[in-house]
Amino acid sequence: MNDCIFCKISAGEVPAEELYRDDDVVGIVDVNPQAPKHMLVLTRKHYGTMSEIVERGDEELAGHMVAVATKLARKAGIPEYRLVVNTGAEGGQTVDHVHVHVLGGRQMTWPPG
Ligand code: 5GP
Ligand code: ZN
Repeated sequence: MNDCIFCKISAGEVPAEELYRDDDVVGIVDVNPQAPKHMLVLTRKHYGTMSEIVERGDEELAGHMVAVATKLARKAGIPEYRLVVNTGAEGGQTVDHVHVHVLGGRQMTWPPG
């Protein structure tokens, strides 16, 4: 956990373009954007995956992440957007600290890769 990049960002030990912060989550700009607007909502406490949050019964936190992601989209001027939660290696997750992607500002395609 000490080596976790998102724990370091959450603790302010690694810089990020921060958009939002409260007691439970932080909103940042993705360092390698996949769309004109690409933001992330991460938990301040370390959880590996969304699955882990739900298994622990913390549906309030799961819902809060979606609510903050939605507000960040509105604030970024993208009323139409995509939320993504990659979960586990097969789900495409590369940073093992739970986060919700907010992507927008271009036409999104389906299916995702
Ligand atoms: P995942 O593949 O786990 O769903 O998404 C991880 C995301 O975190 C990627 O979009 C990647 O660009 C982003 N990311 C990885 N390291 C950093 C970092 O140090 N700072 C920021 N702002 N984003 C990062
Ligand atoms: Zn972490």
